[in-house]
Amino acid sequence: DATAGSNFLRGIIEADLASGKHASRTTVNGTPLPPVVTRFPPEPNGYLHIGHAKSICLNFGLARDYGGRCTMRFDDTNPTKEEQEYVDGILDAVKWLGFDWKDQSGEHLYFASDYFPQMYHMAEYLIQSGHAYVDSQSAEQMAANRGSFSEPGKNSPYRDRPAQESLDLFRRMKAGEFKDGEHIVRVKIDMASPNMNLRDPAIYRIRHAHHHRTGDEWCIYPMYDYAHPIEDAIEHVTHSVCTLEFQDHRPFYDWLLERLTEGGFFKRPLPYQYEFARLNVTYVITSKRKLRQLVEENIVDGWDDPRMPTIVGIRRRGFTPESLQLFCDRTGTTKSDGWTDYGMLEAAVRDDLDPKAPRATAVLRPLRLVIDNFPEGLSEECSAPVHPHHPERGHRHFPITKELWIEEEDFTETPPKGYFRLYPGNKVRLRYGYVVECTGCDKDEHGRVIAVHCNYFADSRSGTPGADNYKVKGNIHWVSASHALEAEVRLYDRLFTDPQPDAGGKDFKLALNPKSKEVITAYLEQGMRAALPDEKFQFERHGYFVADRVDSTPGKPVFNRVVTLKDSWGK
Ligand code: ATP
Ligand code: MG
Ligand code: MG
Repeated sequence: DATAGSNFLRGIIEADLASGKHASRTTVNGTPLPPVVTRFPPEPNGYLHIGHAKSICLNFGLARDYGGRCTMRFDDTNPTKEEQEYVDGILDAVKWLGFDWKDQSGEHLYFASDYFPQMYHMAEYLIQSGHAYVDSQSAEQMAANRGSFSEPGKNSPYRDRPAQESLDLFRRMKAGEFKDGEHIVRVKIDMASPNMNLRDPAIYRIRHAHHHRTGDEWCIYPMYDYAHPIEDAIEHVTHSVCTLEFQDHRPFYDWLLERLTEGGFFKRPLPYQYEFARLNVTYVITSKRKLRQLVEENIVDGWDDPRMPTIVGIRRRGFTPESLQLFCDRTGTTKSDGWTDYGMLEAAVRDDLDPKAPRATAVLRPLRLVIDNFPEGLSEECSAPVHPHHPERGHRHFPITKELWIEEEDFTETPPKGYFRLYPGNKVRLRYGYVVECTGCDKDEHGRVIAVHCNYFADSRSGTPGADNYKVKGNIHWVSASHALEAEVRLYDRLFTDPQPDAGGKDFKLALNPKSKEVITAYLEQGMRAALPDEKFQFERHGYFVADRVDSTPGKPVFNRVVTLKDSWGK
């Protein structure tokens, strides 16, 4: 794709492949390992969002492009926030996006909690070899002794306790003899390091909590910074890709894997961490806490509301997996933070759907058009291509009759300059039908236009030789009033009016777009009755629409607007 954004990780991987850095690796059983192994490591504590989609496309995409493997790993080391429901939702989202954790060598679906026994043994090793100790300071003392960015920290009074004593305490921590917070295991690095992450980081804490997979087997749990490099090394990851805020964690990542390699737990080459700038999209918030607030305060209709940036929401909105992959490729992968315009997301789904989506006619703001000289009761069949660039996809058929629905905005009594649609005395083409000339309109007692009148030219029908004799500038869509399918259509728009709704501590609820959802009753071409849930269409002149995957039923579709045809925002 010529529009693909740059991705610095490709350069790194290509150089590593060229130098053979990860070539000829095998597992302990002698099974060959691919030269590129990445991973997607979500915490199963919520619904995935567009930012996670970026990480999925990046990690699985790199593995696919370089003949490698991407492991699907649940980073479930924090027992209190995690649930099976989220595990299922995440697997669903990854599959829907078009990726798979299976390869010739099998399934690569892992849970960090399965490594708890190994992680525990490694921690015992670190204690025994003098690299870690049990600290018995209170949380307050520990915080006070940590120092600050400008001030070095102070060694814990427990730092030099004998290894045997630490080991004994650690085993008793595991046995459940202590309460939460009574002791903690820390590694011994440098309390004066300018990098706070190296000031004797904690690796194990006591947490009497039920874990969604290991139950009550453990009451001590590894810290994220300890668990993550170990998970990567166990899974033979070569390129561990994470967001920029983890840059300062990398020295500990490397330190830990070096110590554990000295201890014989791992073999070189070791995994290496690379950081990239997280995806920020304008008009979108991705903080889980704030998204939860939108759901709990009923500002949106659930996690899968088509306005939500969750993958379930984006999917229900009618985005395709291909459009998200295209978007993620186009945004590129860099090391400098920035904002991606929401318009890029919309452009990606337009570009993906344009060549695929069958066309259909929908009148969203109906106004009655009466063809006065059209015979009462006559119904003539018109046809239009399913797709203008794919004649092989055939034609759709719909009748023209005396009374039609047209768009309210396709008629005016007083045309502004450049208006080529219906006004008294003007001719337009009824798309795929006849040329008509407007003769006037009917109004109700408030002066509102309730019907438009016209006459048609019987020799002007589209596709017949006579059609060429009529040169008209306006070309409007319509549906037969007696044949149209009445359907609920939900016109969705951006959820916020502010491009950075929660930047700088702003109250994002003040930036809600009051017009982000409008529900209307529209008149559709009758063939739309057969639309299947999740089927996408281009409603001509309007945009792309999808039959809602939850509320559509056979014969009674409900449509969501995915995106308009053109970007009209702020214009
Ligand atoms: P959140 O802050 O929304 O809770 P998280 O980082 O805590 O997200 P994880 O489950 O840890 O959620 O994320 C899984 C992976 O997705 C991580 O590797 C993380 O770096 C990546 N990720 C999350 N948000 C983004 C983003 N906006 N852009 C790119 N990658 C992201
Ligand atoms: Mg999180
Ligand atoms: Mg995280």
